[in-house]
Amino acid sequence: MLKQIAEQLVKTGSYINGRWQQSAQHFTVLNPANQQVLLSVADASASDAERAVCAAADAFASWAALPAAKRSELLQRWYQLVMQHQDDLARLLTLEQGKPLSEAKGEIAYGASYLQWFAEEAKRLYGDTIPAPSNDKRIIVQRQPVGVVAAITPWNFPNAMLARKAAAALAAGCTFIVKPAHQTPLSALALAELAHQAGIPAGVFNVVVGTDAKAIGEVLTQHVKVAKFSFTGSTAVGKQLLKQCADSVKRVSMELGGNAPFIVFDDADLDAAVQGLMAAKFRNAGQTCVCANRILVQQSVYQAFADKLAIAMTQLKVADGLTDGCHIGPLIDDKAVAKVTQLLQSALDDGAKLLLGGSAHSAGAQFFQPTLLTDVQPQMAISNDEIFGPVAALMAFDSEQEAIALANSTEYGLAAYFYSRDIGRVFRVAQALQFGMVGINEGIISNAAAPFGGVKQSGYGREGSKYGLDDYTDIKYLCLGGLQPAM
Ligand code: NAP
Repeated sequence: MLKQIAEQLVKTGSYINGRWQQSAQHFTVLNPANQQVLLSVADASASDAERAVCAAADAFASWAALPAAKRSELLQRWYQLVMQHQDDLARLLTLEQGKPLSEAKGEIAYGASYLQWFAEEAKRLYGDTIPAPSNDKRIIVQRQPVGVVAAITPWNFPNAMLARKAAAALAAGCTFIVKPAHQTPLSALALAELAHQAGIPAGVFNVVVGTDAKAIGEVLTQHVKVAKFSFTGSTAVGKQLLKQCADSVKRVSMELGGNAPFIVFDDADLDAAVQGLMAAKFRNAGQTCVCANRILVQQSVYQAFADKLAIAMTQLKVADGLTDGCHIGPLIDDKAVAKVTQLLQSALDDGAKLLLGGSAHSAGAQFFQPTLLTDVQPQMAISNDEIFGPVAALMAFDSEQEAIALANSTEYGLAAYFYSRDIGRVFRVAQALQFGMVGINEGIISNAAAPFGGVKQSGYGREGSKYGLDDYTDIKYLCLGGLQPAM
């Protein structure tokens, strides 16, 4: 399977200080579509992470001192190389992660778009001058890179979650170390190869792949040479890592879990809402942090919406992600299948009704049928946990106020969606939803120009957009004094 991918992109060990590492210990990377071994990879230890931090610290001064135009040029070259290898990178991503090849190609282009965006933003790291309270002073504000940035990323977007952070960090003048998820190290290592080819200097971008997440994580969150830590993953792990960062008072960004409501009001275009939901719910087999998790439909259009949705869902093709025309690939591992099965069973036990699907799919051990549940209630576990699988859970509501209250009744605050054609309602509901991102008559909301991030226990910090460099820069105030007024 890997033979069809350019050999230079298939790497078997960490990339530290511009060199590929080997080790006595190895771990295997599996294809979630068939559980076969794809590759054996050198298992990095905490001391490898330590070396990566020291390399990034040594590289920092010269990288930060490069003119922004030069950093921009290197990021642009990295972007071009990623796009030149889009097909191979997508295939590698599908093999280790499972998503359909068309989605994997989309993820590579989406991840690359952050390299391109921040190549431009690097040149716009503007400061400020502020009127001083007296004539003998000037107030000057500069933005400077925070220093060494360490990051930990999840398996569901193994290319894009990494590119989104690294692009902003490098553009700001920071150096970077990332530990990707152990299930999907290959996409991260392929990105390192292309960073190397692009001419990003040794030590500026480092990838540490290993199975001892706790030990590697302790180095990345506690090392005094790391100035900033950025995490994308579950809220439970994020809370632990936040505590670990406290002792050295690191800057921290947290992109954590979600429990997105998807509200369909009675004045919505139901066909558009179904189309939006299909994208927001079933992309990556339902394994995205911005997935529609609770589908709230106004009583008067509930049945009509459920019928239309059921028709759309029967068109979904479940298969190995490399199969032509596939819409839904496998879940990441057997634990994910067990979690979806358990949430579904508990909802059925509590009175939800099954309209479609409901069990594992014949395509293989980790495949799940697209499943449609109605009569879901807010107190059910399926309404409160991230499902992370292809299960659409429909709940009815009567009034706008009730929909807003239901939508906000979660500790999470990442993404929300609603469909309405009433302009007054659009502004009222958008204002009232306690989420960092709101899709209005739209199911796909993320792009490099827009600020991605959550509120409440979905975390803080924003990735992408003109705000994306803020998390990687310190504001420095210069007070220039002793200026005599003109005689
Ligand atoms: P996870 O268990 O939190 O793992 C994420 C990363 O943390 C992996 O690299 C993992 O390494 C590492 N990790 C786990 N335990 C650790 C520890 N004790 N110390 C240091 N690192 C540790 O999350 P997941 O299940 O893989 O990913 C799905 C979650 O990510 C969902 O909750 C989803 O909503 C969230 N997510 C959020 C966003 C966002 O932008 N807000 C985007 C994508 C995903 P190993 O793989 O080696 O265990």
